[in-house]
Amino acid sequence: MRPKPIPMRSCSVCREQLPKRELVRLVITASGLAIDRSGRLAGRGAYLCHKTACWQRAYESGVLVKALRLELTDQDRSVLLEYAANRDAQ
Ligand SMILES: [Zn+2]
Repeated sequence: MRPKPIPMRSCSVCREQLPKRELVRLVITASGLAIDRSGRLAGRGAYLCHKTACWQRAYESGVLVKALRLELTDQDRSVLLEYAANRDAQ
């Protein structure tokens, strides 16, 4: 028996490959951009790593717009920045 391969995903901003569970999944829901903490939300998703810079760049660089095929609203932007800010506070 070979060990199960660990599912790898890459950060949408820095493209670093990491095990899926070490990345944060973002999903577009009916109410806008959401942080998928359970990893079970349905919908088009994108992954970000834990570097705060990636969260700040995610909005400005436009990579999320490409990955999610959706224009981000100001509310979506605050979801990203709030998450990044709260991570810094920990
Ligand atoms: Zn990254």
